[in-house]
Amino acid sequence: MTDHHTGGDVRTEAARRRSIAVISHPDAGKSTLTEALALHTRAITTAGAVHGKGDRAGVVSDWMEMEQKRGISITSAALRLAYGDTVINLLDTPGHADFSEDTYRVLTAVDAAVMLLDAAKGLEPQTLKLFEVCRRRGVPVITLINKWDRPGLEALELCDELEQRITLRPTPLTWPLGEAGRFVGLLDVAAGDVRTYERAPGGAQLAAETRLVPGTARERLGADYDDAVEAAALLDGVDQDSFLAGRTTPLLFGAALANIGVRQLLDAIVDLAPPPSARPDVRRTADVLGAGARAGVRGEAATSDTTAGELPAGLPTRPVDAPFSGFVFKMQAGMDPKHRDHVAFLRVCSGRFERGMVVTHERTGRPFATKYALQVFGRERETVEEAFPGDVVGLVNASTLAVGDSLYEPGGAAVRYPPMPAFAPEHFRAARVKDPGRSKQFRKGIAQLQQEGVVQVLVSDARGDGNPILAAVGPLQFEVATYRMEHEFSAPVVLDHLDLSVARIVRPDDVPLVTRAVGTEVARRSDGTLLALFRDVWRLRSLQREYSLDLQPLVAGGE
Ligand code: GDP
Repeated sequence: MTDHHTGGDVRTEAARRRSIAVISHPDAGKSTLTEALALHTRAITTAGAVHGKGDRAGVVSDWMEMEQKRGISITSAALRLAYGDTVINLLDTPGHADFSEDTYRVLTAVDAAVMLLDAAKGLEPQTLKLFEVCRRRGVPVITLINKWDRPGLEALELCDELEQRITLRPTPLTWPLGEAGRFVGLLDVAAGDVRTYERAPGGAQLAAETRLVPGTARERLGADYDDAVEAAALLDGVDQDSFLAGRTTPLLFGAALANIGVRQLLDAIVDLAPPPSARPDVRRTADVLGAGARAGVRGEAATSDTTAGELPAGLPTRPVDAPFSGFVFKMQAGMDPKHRDHVAFLRVCSGRFERGMVVTHERTGRPFATKYALQVFGRERETVEEAFPGDVVGLVNASTLAVGDSLYEPGGAAVRYPPMPAFAPEHFRAARVKDPGRSKQFRKGIAQLQQEGVVQVLVSDARGDGNPILAAVGPLQFEVATYRMEHEFSAPVVLDHLDLSVARIVRPDDVPLVTRAVGTEVARRSDGTLLALFRDVWRLRSLQREYSLDLQPLVAGGE
């Protein structure tokens, strides 16, 4: 099928791709930045037409009753932007009410992240959680300090915060002239020249930019120029190796609303963010180690959250120019009320994807037809004909696929990408069926939702499996679960709020100590891992002090 396409083509296509996500706390300006990025690239010509929050003009989702009712979009958007010769795949990390386990999962499908900070706020809780996932997975991070047109913290203070709180050393690419709130221009730290801007109102157009060479800049801008040069010189210059290793972060300043600093960010993405590269293949690891170890490799990676993201170095990998393969990082169901479809969002890892291919579903060994392959952004669904490593494809009619599953082109070598870690849940509900006559449907539905990764399902001895605990990163996951239990499985559920917010992996020996305490529970995940659930971190800490318990955090802990 791909004989007219050589490995060289695939290598070239992969090399010009950058797949990234923006990590930020709500209101830092992610939607505004996304619109600004689109404005600077060739995807669309006017800001506002892209995705964003449901309250914006032009953003309507008619896919799901629930979305309509709440005015939110639970649809992941993967925006494909052309910038010069580079294809930038911008994967949406849903925030606000949409914050969920999917937000973390998106970070398994990107090669780099942009950490967007509000100049007045610095590092905020959701940013920290998302950053932790990036760090664990070795995703390098570029930092953009936004809203410099408004009063905020000092630039060096923000740099200090990165070093002190997350041991990430900022290396400035640009530096602002003037303190936050008095944005005179942007210094290009390496070249020494300055850009000043005519502000465009509302972020609807590109801000007119004037470039001043160092001599002119000093002459015209005086102390503002000297101060910026001096402050930037206190920090090291950009170094790609330490950036890729996660020790440093290229740092930029800007104002997304005025489109200031956005082009520089795009240039940094092109110059510094890594293109797709070979990914670990845990199936070949198992084959190399022998059949006896196969279950072990699969089991270990699936049960230990601390290792799932940090597989040991030296694992066999699948190069980008191998035949087509990819993995599912997100599932979405019931977007179209008339036609109950399941869309699996796949990150292409190797080879060329061509719509219509029949690929192999690694977990079941069954064929999967890709007749309906979409690129989905906002409410636009566009058929995608071909895709290359780093691209995202939405596969329709994907009810047999689950988050973490691998797909590959048959005929060649099979591949299994590392399993998706289960991220630390922070919200818990006890589920029961409304009508006991529907118990069978209830069990079936809960099992399906667990398989797809809609919610984590935990079972405790005390409650029994007719009353499982649903665990989630964000409450939206419960809404999706409730909706689907009723509409898809005809088993309406009652969810009882549980006063728990922190989960830790607990050793079987320690279970009695935990269950004896007030405000805690122990429950089992389907992979056998035991989780100790606590009302809050204080409860967790006091128990830990009292019994010196060995409790392991999950990826992105709730502290
Ligand atoms: P999100 O929640 O991260 O997607 O944030 P939004 O993009 O919706 O932005 C939150 C608010 O900050 C909105 O009112 C934006 O207009 C505003 N905003 C975003 N970027 C800037 C900026 O550079 N300067 C100023 N002054 N406001 C901004």
